[in-house]
Amino acid sequence: MKKILAVALTLALTLTAFAACAESKETLTMATNASFPPYEYVEGDQVVGIDPEIAAAVCEKMGYDLEIVDTEFDSLISGVASGKYDFVMAGMTVTEERQQMINFSDSYATGIQSVIVKEDSDITSVDDLFAEGANHTVGVQLSTTGDIYTTGDIEEAGLGTVQRFPNGNEAVMALVNGKIDCVVIDNEPAKAYVAANPGLKVLDSSYAVEDYAAAIAKDNTELLEKFNAALAELKADGTIDAIIAKYISAE
Ligand code: GLN
Repeated sequence: MKKILAVALTLALTLTAFAACAESKETLTMATNASFPPYEYVEGDQVVGIDPEIAAAVCEKMGYDLEIVDTEFDSLISGVASGKYDFVMAGMTVTEERQQMINFSDSYATGIQSVIVKEDSDITSVDDLFAEGANHTVGVQLSTTGDIYTTGDIEEAGLGTVQRFPNGNEAVMALVNGKIDCVVIDNEPAKAYVAANPGLKVLDSSYAVEDYAAAIAKDNTELLEKFNAALAELKADGTIDAIIAKYISAE
């Protein structure tokens, strides 16, 4: 009886050791706004897309597990700055203003701000938004670069009004329902929204070209360095290009 107990105890200890070993990998929390296809969107109960895949590859290289939190775009920077999340990947554009609150990793992709209109819209190029006497209602996602640019270029210039939505989907729905004249949003989500909503198109001319990067808290320079080192390796071995090519076909 004693022997059986001893064996059972040894077994239990061994199993605990195994479990501890399997769990010893630390988990990093990435925050995003999963309303931004193909960079991040919800499929079933999963957040999938370019950013989750790059994040998973970077975390694997750094030796961490990855957990993804889906939240409003507007709360991402403050959340990572306060340490609530370890990093943000959200098709997020590098801007000097954001750099005052967080650090950006090296860039992993290029973004373009585009304009979505109805197929029969009188807006035929980006310049129409800035024409003398223009008076358009422009939809954007709150706190995105689309919001920042149009607030200055259109609203403050007296060329129309800006309506701010919590995510891209709601902005596009307002356009579909005729409540606004156009949506300024990143080009890849713009294409995805147009494909999913008949009667819309993306203007050929682009509003701005930008760099996407991950955001990390200013005091977490250790993670920033590790992240950039892993990213550099994944760029060099073609992993990043392959992930992007999986979601975005070259034109
Ligand atoms: N690239 C834009 C920005 O950083 C939009 C990102 C997003 O909506 N997820 O503001």
